[in-house]
Amino acid sequence: MATGTFATVINCIDGRARNPVANWVRLNLRLQYIDFITEPGPDKVITQGTAAEIAELKRKVQVSQTAHHSAVIVLAGHHDCAGNPVSEAEHRAQISQGAQVIASWGLNMRVIGLWITPEWGIEPLCDTGAQGYIAETFGLAITCIDGRAKRPLADWMKQHYGVHYIDLVTEPEPDTTLLQATPWLLENIQQKLRYAIVAHHPTVLAIAAHHDCGGNTLSAAVHQEQVRRVANLVATWNLQVPIIGVWLDEQWQPHIIHQIPA
Ligand SMILES: [Zn+2]
Ligand SMILES: [Zn+2]
Repeated sequence: MATGTFATVINCIDGRARNPVANWVRLNLRLQYIDFITEPGPDKVITQGTAAEIAELKRKVQVSQTAHHSAVIVLAGHHDCAGNPVSEAEHRAQISQGAQVIASWGLNMRVIGLWITPEWGIEPLCDTGAQGYIAETFGLAITCIDGRAKRPLADWMKQHYGVHYIDLVTEPEPDTTLLQATPWLLENIQQKLRYAIVAHHPTVLAIAAHHDCGGNTLSAAVHQEQVRRVANLVATWNLQVPIIGVWLDEQWQPHIIHQIPA
C-alpha cells in the first residue's frame, strides 16, 4: 500500500500549468504527493464534455481515492489554454461550475477550484471545505408539458451547470404560449418563477423548446427564434438569474441557442 498523503489534481496537459498548482497544493494543503489527471482544457471537459468523458474523469479520481486515500480534488484552469481558448471570465465560471459537478459525484472529498493567473500564480475560486459537501443547488426551467422533454433537459442541466435539482414550470408549447399569453398568464408564470427563485436560489433559468412539439406546425428555426424572444421577454422581469435558451433536437440533445447574463 502507498504511504504518504495525496491530493488529486485535475489539470491541463499544458506543462506550464503543472508547477504552480503542485506548489500551491503542497504549501496550502500540506500534502506530500499529487496524483495528476490531465486533459487539454479540463475546465471545458468537466462542464461541456460528453457523459463518457466525464465518467472517465470520475473513474480516474476514484482510482486516486481508492489507492492513495486522497481526500481532496483540485480542479485547475489557466489562461492561454490551447485546449480551451475562452475568456478569463469563462474560465472562471467553468472552474466554479466544474467544481460543483465534481462535488455532485458524492465521493465525500473536498473539492477546490483554482484559477491559474496569466502570471502563473494561483487564485482559489471555490472550496467545499473538508466535508466535501456543497449545499444542494437548483436550476429552473420553463419547458413543454411534453413528458419526453423533461429528462433530457434536466439531466443536461445537472451535468453542465452542476445543479442537483431542476424546478420546472411547464406550459404546452411554451415558446408559442408565452409569446401569445394574456397578461394574467404571464403574471402567473412570473409568480411561479419568483416562487422557485425565492425558495431555491437557482443558478440558471433555461427556456426550452423541442422538436415534434404541438403537431409540428412550426419549423425548428421558428421555434428557436421564439425561444430567443421569450428569453428576452423573461429577462425584462429582472429575476437576477442567468437565462439560457435551449433547443432539444430530434435526438433530444439540448443546444444552447441564446444566453443572457443575470
Ligand atoms: Zn491548457
Ligand atoms: Zn411540446
